[in-house]
Amino acid sequence: MAKEMREFQAETKQLLDLMVHSIYTNREIFLRELISNASDAIDKLRFESLTNRELLEGKEDFEIFLVPDKDSHTLTISDNGIGMTYDEVIENVGTIAKSGTKAFLEKLKEEKESTTDKDLIGQFGVGFYSAFMVAEKVTLITRKAGETKAVKWESTGDGSYSIEETEKETRGTSIILTLGEEFYGDKAEEDFTNEYALEALVKKYSDYVRFPIKMNFEVEETPKDDEGKEIEGAEKVKRIEVRTLNSMRPLWTKNKSEIKPEEYTEFYKNLFHEWEDPFEVIHSKAEGTVEYTTMLFLPKRAPYNLYHTDYEPGIQLYSRHVFIMDKCKELLPDYLRFVRGLVDSPDFSLNISRELLQQSRELKLIGKNLEKNVLKTLEKMLKNERERYETFWNEFGKSFKIGVYTAPQDSSKLKDLLLFATSKEGTALTTLKEYIERMPESQNLIYYATGKDAATIERLPQMELLKEKGIEVLYLYDNVDEFAIEALREYGDKKFHSVSRGDLNLDDVESQEVKKETETIAKDNEDLIKAVKENLEGKIADVKISNRLKSSAVCLVSGDNGISLSMEQVFAEANN
Ligand code: ADP
Ligand code: MG
Repeated sequence: MAKEMREFQAETKQLLDLMVHSIYTNREIFLRELISNASDAIDKLRFESLTNRELLEGKEDFEIFLVPDKDSHTLTISDNGIGMTYDEVIENVGTIAKSGTKAFLEKLKEEKESTTDKDLIGQFGVGFYSAFMVAEKVTLITRKAGETKAVKWESTGDGSYSIEETEKETRGTSIILTLGEEFYGDKAEEDFTNEYALEALVKKYSDYVRFPIKMNFEVEETPKDDEGKEIEGAEKVKRIEVRTLNSMRPLWTKNKSEIKPEEYTEFYKNLFHEWEDPFEVIHSKAEGTVEYTTMLFLPKRAPYNLYHTDYEPGIQLYSRHVFIMDKCKELLPDYLRFVRGLVDSPDFSLNISRELLQQSRELKLIGKNLEKNVLKTLEKMLKNERERYETFWNEFGKSFKIGVYTAPQDSSKLKDLLLFATSKEGTALTTLKEYIERMPESQNLIYYATGKDAATIERLPQMELLKEKGIEVLYLYDNVDEFAIEALREYGDKKFHSVSRGDLNLDDVESQEVKKETETIAKDNEDLIKAVKENLEGKIADVKISNRLKSSAVCLVSGDNGISLSMEQVFAEANN
C-alpha cells in the first residue's frame, strides 16, 4: 500500500491548533497522557492474552520504555501492548471519538473561551493530541499483536497526516516526538531529553502505573577488580544501566494513613482521565465473606452526557492488582452511575468470562457493600457538612430522583437523601424529614407545587391560601421532581399532595366556620354552578365553590385522583 495523505476531521484540526499554539504552561502532562495510553494498551493485551496466549508472541514481560535522544532531539515512548492496525490508527488518532476530548471541545464552545485558554487544557485529559504541545512532529509506529504488518503515522499538527505500511519487529506502539526548540537542550525551560527531568515527571504523574516504565541511564564508574573493589587510579568508564522509574505499587494497596490527598487526586485524574479534582474519595477494605479493597470517587461535576445513552457508567475491576475490566455496570445501581472507582478482590476469578463474572455472587455481594458505603458517606455529609452535600446535590441530585421513580426498590434508601426547594423563607433546600418536623400537628399532607421557578409558583392562585395559613410548600422545578414524588406517594405516614390537585384538605387546619361559610355560599349559588357546568360540559369534571382563592376569581385544578396538571403537560409533550 502506498503512503496516503489524509486530512484530520474539522474538530481534530481545531484541537490540534489549540495544542500547537497553546500558551498552556503545564505542557509536561503530555508525558502522563502518552504513558497512560501505553499502559491502557498493555492492559488490553494482557486481558486478551488470557484467552489467546498466542498474542504474546512469546514475550510476556510488559514494559514501557522512554528513550530520550539529545542529538536528534527526540523522545520516544514505546510500549509492547496491543498495538493498532491500519484502520484502527485512522479511527483512533485521526478522529476525536474520545469522551475526554469531546467534553473538552464542548466546554470550549460553551464558554467561548479564546483558543489559547490555558487552564482548560490541563483540566481535560486531551490524550494523544497533547503530544503536539511539545513536539513539532509526531511519528507513531505500531504493530498490532498477532499481525504481521505494521503502520507508520506522522503529522506536524498542521491539519493533515500521512499513513503508510511499514515493518516493526516487536508488537506494540512507539511514539517518536521530535521536540520543539523550547523543549530540549540545556537552555530549554524544560528539557525533555534530560533523563533526570523525565524520571521526576514519571514519579510525579505516573508512579502507580502497573507496568514498569524503564529508561537507560548512562552511568560513569570506576572499574572494579575481581573482588568488587574499585581499582585505584583507573579511568572511569561509561556504562548503560536500565532503571525502572515508577514504583508500580497500586495506590489502593497502601494504607490510608500513608496516602496524601494529592496522591488520590493525581491517581483519580490519571486513571479515569478526569480533569478536575475528585469531590470525595471513599477508600476502604473489607475482609470476611468477601475480601476486597475499593477506591470510589464522587466527581465534582456531572459529565455533560450523564443522562444520555452514550454515557458508560461502571467501576474498574481488578483481581490481585491485575486489571480485569474497565466499566463493570453491574456493581452499582443506576442511580450511582456517576461514581467512578475500582474494586480489587482476590474473589474475582481471572479465568471466567466477563459475562459470568458480572453475574457472580461475589460481585453482587461486593456491589451491595459499595452501595451501602456510598450511601453512608452521603448520609454523613448531609448531617455534618450540609453545604457540601447541597453542592453534591445540585450536581447529582437528579440521578437520585430518577432512581426513585425508575427503581422503586431503591426509593427507601434514597428518600432521606432527597432535597427539595421550599417556600420556607431563608431555606434553599429541605429534606423531607425537616419538612415534616416543621409541620403543625394538624397538617396531614406534604404540599408541593410545580413550576419553572419560585416566582412562577408563587403566582399560582392555589398558593394564596397556603401562604396565608403559613403552610410550607415544596417547590418542584424539574419534571423528575414530580415523578419522584409521585413514586414515593408518602413520606413517614404523610401523603404528598399537589396544590393543583383536588381539594387542599385543609379541613383540620382551617376553622369549621370557614367550611360552613363555603357550604352556604355553594348552596346559595346552586344555579350558577349548574349553569357553569352545563356550559363547560365535557371539558371539566366538576365545578366547586372553593375557599382556596383569595384574589383570583377562578382556578383550574386536577381531580383528586387524576394526574396533575404539570404531569399532563409532560405527557402531552412526550406524545407529540
Ligand atoms: P483515550 O486514551 O482517552 O482513549 P487518547 O487520545 O489518549 O484518548 O487516545 C486515543 C486512542 O488511540 C486510544 O483510545 C487508543 O485506542 C489509541 N491509542 C493511543 N495510544 C495508543 C498506544 N500506545 N497503543 C495502542 N493504542 C493507542
Ligand atoms: Mg489517553
